[in-house]
Amino acid sequence: MKKKAELYAGKAKSVYLTDDEDHLIIHFRNDTSAFDGEKVEQLERKGMLNNKFTAFIMQQLETAGIKTHHVKLLSDDEALVRKLEMLPIECVVRNISAGSLCRRLGVTEGLDLEPPTFEFFLKNDALHDPMINDYHIRSFDWATEAEIVEMKKMTFEVNTVLKKLFKDAGMLLVDYKLEFGRFQGQLLLGDEFSPDGCRLWDVDTREKLDKDRFRQGLGGVVEAYEEVAQRLGVNLE
Ligand code: C5P
Repeated sequence: MKKKAELYAGKAKSVYLTDDEDHLIIHFRNDTSAFDGEKVEQLERKGMLNNKFTAFIMQQLETAGIKTHHVKLLSDDEALVRKLEMLPIECVVRNISAGSLCRRLGVTEGLDLEPPTFEFFLKNDALHDPMINDYHIRSFDWATEAEIVEMKKMTFEVNTVLKKLFKDAGMLLVDYKLEFGRFQGQLLLGDEFSPDGCRLWDVDTREKLDKDRFRQGLGGVVEAYEEVAQRLGVNLE
């Protein structure tokens, strides 16, 4: 498949058209950003790690029957994916309190959430991705009622699969963000799944092994991502 013009450049990934209208190429860059792009740094090897990590997770999800956009790895930092019509929505599941939940509700970090909490956010940098609910999604036609049901169902299915996968590798899946899109009448999981978009803590020490290391200036960001990949057995060759 031939790489054509750039379709879109986000904060950490660039997306290219291909000579097949149903497929895109995603390039995972080393750019790392936080606070709506206020803090940006280049972290060596991060693009490669997130590309291979995402491919590994998407394959695990496919094996568990969850449909994703992932087709195959093309190189260290590029993957071939199906071209989705993305919904402008972020789906967040939280198993343990952290991040914006603590700031918004004044709760301490590290509380077990049972049942896990689900939140929708609007994908809009200028508005700092405000939290929205099902009614906003329907009133503004950002997705159908059936798609809302499907997004929640798939996001919780992902939780079942990944909580166990990470637990078996000595990590707690604290929270994560997913994005979905339409492809030939179906909703597929799109975007990425990497330590950039989830929180992972060591099960014993609760050491942070995700992008909070970057957000909070803890250092050792790429080393932590590498540690997570190694614990899961992701092939980084
Ligand atoms: O910031 P907050 O606590 O709401 O984030 C919840 C989860 O969603 C975290 O794992 C975070 O990395 C992820 N997230 C993301 N992209 C965003 C917002 C949140 O990947 N724009």
